[in-house]
Amino acid sequence: MAARLIKGAEISKQIREEITKEIVELKENRGVTPGLATILVGDDPGSKVYVGQKEKACNNLGIYSERTDLPADISEADLLDLVDKFNDDSKVHGILVQLPLPKQIDAERVIYAINPDKDVDCFHPVNVGKLMIGAATFLPCTPHGIVELLRRSDVTTEGKHVVVVGRSNIVGKPMANLMLQPPPGGNATVTLCHSKTADLATFTKMADILIVAVGHPKTITGDMVKEGVVVIDVGVNRIGKTPEGKAILAGDVDFDSVQEKAAAITPVPGGVGPMTITMLMKNTVVAAKASI
Ligand code: NAP
Repeated sequence: MAARLIKGAEISKQIREEITKEIVELKENRGVTPGLATILVGDDPGSKVYVGQKEKACNNLGIYSERTDLPADISEADLLDLVDKFNDDSKVHGILVQLPLPKQIDAERVIYAINPDKDVDCFHPVNVGKLMIGAATFLPCTPHGIVELLRRSDVTTEGKHVVVVGRSNIVGKPMANLMLQPPPGGNATVTLCHSKTADLATFTKMADILIVAVGHPKTITGDMVKEGVVVIDVGVNRIGKTPEGKAILAGDVDFDSVQEKAAAITPVPGGVGPMTITMLMKNTVVAAKASI
């Protein structure tokens, strides 16, 4: 039987309606407008699209948005000065530096320079550490979006075996960590796999919930999962173009073979993707509230 689709686009819309109410309440009762500063360095087409989407989401929700586009050859010192300026700007509650950054800039140094109270991406070691000890102010956007996708689709995580494939600092590691934590985390038993995992299928077949973030299309196929698994596909791979020149996207999971066995699955596009920016908006509101 074909799997139930977990529709991120619909769930994201629901959350955005809730965020809009929070923003109206903040403006009317506390006189605070949440603000997000986005910084784009260079002209990578993918990064431009992402920053544009973030700016648009702010405008739609009533979040003050300040976007700065910098040339690809900007010095690290100049970028750090700009981050500092936003650290001191009371209109700005969240600072987002779009990654990746050009080679002459040490991304780590830039992330470390962001005031942790404004680190709405949750990349600063202070926030990563707070997540680790279950004392998070911000939850990392993509993993938090996945927790919400599951919760709002009535998928129980507590006591389940969650297998995460991919150990990046942006998705895999914080995802595994969040699934491990008591609520708002998943209270699950977690296995974290990566490219050096021997016999990946042994682990993916044990998953009640399988979360895949590897960056390669069709890495997980139907023979690698058990009947009734819930599959979250984080991957976004550009595998071609339509005759009109639009990118054709595929996830990291072979949707056709996996959905034959899965109880539920996220599509790509329209699954995890819409949730990430929504949770960034949520974090900007969290930061604004914390600033009062
Ligand atoms: P990344 O930094 O490249 O990390 C990929 C991880 O996957 C690494 O830990 C790597 O292992 C592991 N891996 C690669 N091939 C593997 C294999 N065959 N078997 C097992 N593990 C394997 O990627 P990322 O930033 O986490 O992103 C992953 C995917 O998610 C990408 O397609 C990205 O575009 C997408 N993404 C989507 C969103 C969204 O909002 N929808 C957000 C972020 C990322 P090693 O550590 O051993 O190298």
